[in-house]
Amino acid sequence: MSILVTGGTGFIGSHTCVELLEAGYDLVVFDNFYNSKPSVLDSIVDITGKGFKFYHSDMNDIGDLEKIFSDNDIDCVIHFAGFKAVGESVEKPLMYYSNNITGTLNLLNVMKDHNVKKLVFSSSATVYGVPKKVPLTEDMPLSVTNPYGRTKLMIEDILRDLCVSDPEWSVLLLRYFNPVGGHKSGLLCEDPNGIPNNLMPRILDTAFGIQEKLTVFGNDYDTVDGTGVRDYIHVTDLAKGHVNAARKLDAFRGIEAVNLGTGRGYSVLELIKTFERVNNVSVPFEFAPRRPGDVAECYADTKKAYDFLGWKAELGIEDMCRDSYVARVNHSGRSDEE
Ligand code: UDP
Repeated sequence: MSILVTGGTGFIGSHTCVELLEAGYDLVVFDNFYNSKPSVLDSIVDITGKGFKFYHSDMNDIGDLEKIFSDNDIDCVIHFAGFKAVGESVEKPLMYYSNNITGTLNLLNVMKDHNVKKLVFSSSATVYGVPKKVPLTEDMPLSVTNPYGRTKLMIEDILRDLCVSDPEWSVLLLRYFNPVGGHKSGLLCEDPNGIPNNLMPRILDTAFGIQEKLTVFGNDYDTVDGTGVRDYIHVTDLAKGHVNAARKLDAFRGIEAVNLGTGRGYSVLELIKTFERVNNVSVPFEFAPRRPGDVAECYADTKKAYDFLGWKAELGIEDMCRDSYVARVNHSGRSDEE
């Protein structure tokens, strides 16, 4: 019995593959390398000392999906594959809907045909829209503000409908807060193609001199120091949450949403200062107006993750800052052309 991991060479996918292999699972992985690199496969093997089957394919190719399910005895699927850049999704909504929605429908149809009815879906705290209060609990109203977020919410809705229609499905919607960090070996890190949008990759670019100054969007929020507050979570903790989720799929039927966060918010300035201190580097920054669409504070209520999955985050903000930096230092010396 194997777990199929779609998008398994991406940032969260690759860390999850490591944790699943270390927990003893057999894996089948597929990815189209749209936002990742083939060298990630070697890193996963180097870290774990374990092999797995890999398909360079795309969820929009039903023939490929059919072959994967016919060739392998797949027990459940952890579904990461999808486009994820908010700004790009606003510019190219059709591309996002085609890839994320159609691709997921292809996957679900092939799963159904092969009687595979256990799924962990990579959702996001973005489905909470503009929070009316924090911390966010899973039963809060859902709304979204951009096409990327809408693909997450639409897929959640599709999965809810599917579970109503057929009670044999077991589906977990994991709503991630702000993943950062990298594998402690330094072999895996966030490596976005193009100019990064998120805070930690931009802090890294500034620390490495790729970007002269970090722009801090807004210092007039009603928060501890006026800058935005988010629930940053170490990617290794997040990956471990998927191991617990995969185990849980055998123990229930239906659909459940679970927040994966630490439950603790940090401001932009707190993150910058911690990063500078633990890595002994400088991150020059300047304030700019608020970024449209940003909210002041967003952090998780983590009770359900603990009660339902038996999971809680273990690594702190210093680990996140250190491992993000070490992974980038190490990664700068590696090349896919080697
Ligand atoms: N942020 C910032 N400068 C940047 C990128 C992000 O000040 O170059 C802030 C942003 O306004 C927010 C926080 O950092 O308060 C986290 O932003 P990110 O895009 O990483 O995550 P999200 O807003 O999607 O939670």
